[in-house]
Amino acid sequence: MPYIKFLGGCREVGRSAVLIESNNGAQCILDYGIRFKGEERLPLDGDFSNLKAVALSHCHVDHSGALPFLFKNKDIPLFTNPLTLRMSEILIKDTIKISNYPYPFGYRELQKTIKNASFLSNEVRQKIDDKFYITFYDAGHIPGSVSILVEVDNKRILYTGDINTQETNLVSPAEPSKLPEIDVLITESTYSLREHPIRAELEKRFTDDTLNIIENGGKVLVPAFGVARSQEILLVLQKYNFKSEIFLDGLARKVSIEYAQFPNSFRNFAEYKSAFKKAQLITSREKRKNLKKRSDGLIISPSGMLKGGAALEYISSILNDPSSAVFLVGYQVEGTPGRKLIDEKVFEFKERNSRNYRTRDIFIKAKCNVDYYDFSSHADKIHLHRYIDDLKFQNDSKFIFCMHGDTKSTTSFAYDLSDKGFNSVAPEIGETYKI
Ligand SMILES: [Zn+2]
Ligand SMILES: [Zn+2]
Repeated sequence: MPYIKFLGGCREVGRSAVLIESNNGAQCILDYGIRFKGEERLPLDGDFSNLKAVALSHCHVDHSGALPFLFKNKDIPLFTNPLTLRMSEILIKDTIKISNYPYPFGYRELQKTIKNASFLSNEVRQKIDDKFYITFYDAGHIPGSVSILVEVDNKRILYTGDINTQETNLVSPAEPSKLPEIDVLITESTYSLREHPIRAELEKRFTDDTLNIIENGGKVLVPAFGVARSQEILLVLQKYNFKSEIFLDGLARKVSIEYAQFPNSFRNFAEYKSAFKKAQLITSREKRKNLKKRSDGLIISPSGMLKGGAALEYISSILNDPSSAVFLVGYQVEGTPGRKLIDEKVFEFKERNSRNYRTRDIFIKAKCNVDYYDFSSHADKIHLHRYIDDLKFQNDSKFIFCMHGDTKSTTSFAYDLSDKGFNSVAPEIGETYKI
């Protein structure tokens, strides 16, 4: 019997990795990401001597980050698409650059990973071994993201990756109706216990609040994630006819420029191009200096959880100004400076000097406005359930594995699904299931 082994991303968000092995021992790995805290940052290693292929759902480093480790001594195809490959390269490089953690790979292994990339279009069936195929389907999470259907020894396994079934300004939603009948589902569980606010109301509130601060002579810093979230914010601003000046810095600027080369990955590329045109790019130290001196304006700049990046160039003057604001637009993981800022209105940061590696503790009590807007790109509780209800299973066993969520989200989700008649479980790392 073929089997599934969970190498990471179990009862946690981070280091997602799943191994699938066929009857005759051929192996395929879906995602190989990293996590940001603790000692164990990589998925499980193991005997991957019969690995035929690796398939990547999307570029976020909790899915792609440890790929260079896997390709260190291997030349096998990495199935992905051009946008995901390019964005993974940017994000993994950034991780290697800014991390204090000694990851067991570097730029050389990253280049080797990129050399092994093989592009696969959505809804095209790709053979990887005897009775072993993969097919990509749009996942609606960020541009380029896919769910992966694995067909092994006549069993169909669907790995959702990160999914969104609601339309965003940037991408179209995942469509379960496009999928064939399956035997096993491996689903993400990030927001399986939570509901997102109504999108249109959230967008309006964000735009109004931002404009309000600027009209009263203040600055707004939006430390959005560089990939996808910054560009979604640009589209929201355009939709509500935001008239004030917008500045883009850091990874948000870099990614926004790169995105322009992938017109087919967007819901409406013309809209994206026009939203991007309205932003002014901070391309030099001089421009940054001038922007810092300004008293008003909207600055979009990562990192999304204020752990580094160009956002830190602007933050101290904004924190000290009661008429300005920091608006966070992404989920803030516990223990990050962004989370502390929301919870305690305090900005605490260990600054590391890149020349002498000395650290300096920054501690600022925020006098400015601080708010959080839940612009998530994951399906929430209602939509995850609806997605699963819309899937067609080939037989009555209806296996579901709940991963990519904390312990409570994955185990409660599995429990709720059992109640609905599914054979569901929240696997633990290292567990193997015959299917
Ligand atoms: Zn993701
Ligand atoms: Zn993820």
